[in-house]
Amino acid sequence: MNRFDYLAPTSLAEALAMLSDRPEAFPLAGGTDLLVQIKEHRRPVEALLSLKRVSEMHQLSLNGTLVLGTAVSLAQIAAEQQIRQNYAALADGAALIGSVQIRSMATVGGNLCNASPSADTAPPLLVLQAQAVITTAEGERTVPLAEFFLGPGRTILQPGEMLKEIVVPQPPARSGSCYLRHTPRAAMDIAVVGVAAAISLDAEGIIAEARLALGAVAPTPMRAAAAEALLPGQRLTGELLAEVGHVAAQEARPIDDLRASADYRRHLVNVLTQRVLSQALARAASQQG
Ligand SMILES: Cc1cc2nc3c(=O)[nH]c(=O)nc-3n(C[C@H](O)[C@H](O)[C@H](O)COP(=O)(O)OP(=O)(O)OC[C@H]3O[C@@H](n4cnc5c(N)ncnc54)[C@H](O)[C@@H]3O)c2cc1C
Repeated sequence: MNRFDYLAPTSLAEALAMLSDRPEAFPLAGGTDLLVQIKEHRRPVEALLSLKRVSEMHQLSLNGTLVLGTAVSLAQIAAEQQIRQNYAALADGAALIGSVQIRSMATVGGNLCNASPSADTAPPLLVLQAQAVITTAEGERTVPLAEFFLGPGRTILQPGEMLKEIVVPQPPARSGSCYLRHTPRAAMDIAVVGVAAAISLDAEGIIAEARLALGAVAPTPMRAAAAEALLPGQRLTGELLAEVGHVAAQEARPIDDLRASADYRRHLVNVLTQRVLSQALARAASQQG
């Protein structure tokens, strides 16, 4: 391993000032991606900027809107009762990642900034309409998470910028969401395909809003816009589920690789889309009245 500098700010202002001086520094959150990449010589680093003592990035607030500091751990997200209740797809995704040890170290911001197409918090946060708050020493900008990813390992973050927090609006009444993935092993594996759904029902139980997002089937996590457009104004019949699953599978842009063929991935998108929609509907219906 090469020598590198280790910067340990104790506030956001100090972190941003350090990053402004050393824009080549990599923010270090849980290190569960970054330290592995450094050890395997996949990521040449000159400096690491630890977020461990930057308390502003560890805050989680649930006053109507969910505000997740970038360095909130996946374990905390998976355990938080209000997230499990109102943002269930996010709790589903966080709970699936790695092991207890990994989830205790790993952060939501690290999962997003690492920009793996298979990142398990990305499809849930896309269907929950999350916004990314990006900060520098000069100021902040807020972008829809859908615009955050550029490709495998690439985001819109510029040198000197950090992800500060993720803001997720409160879902309307009678809403439910779900995330499921397929992995060959039951745990400690990366998604071959992941699918998230979020549904809101009107007072009659008709779908008012629906969003679908897919992971590991394109260079970035993606919304399945054509499939989700079939849902508003409808009741979720078996026939409609089959149609939406089929359209989502056509929208996916998977590749053949060591872990699965493109055809198998499309098949998984179809199956998982139907399952997450059914589960999201059941969760929304359980909030009726
Ligand atoms: C054994 C094992 C199993 C795993 N299983 C899964 C899995 O099932 N699903 C899954 O999705 N992932 C999995 N991962 C990957 C990893 O644990 C997650 O992606 C994790 O959420 C990364 O978070 P972190 O805090 O450790 O990020 P770090 O490793 O600290 O950082 C990751 C990247 O993000 C950048 N970064 C971090 N925070 C910021 C910020 N605030 N602003 C700008 N850039 C930032 C870093 O510079 C780095 O480039 C696994 C990893 C291991 C080692």
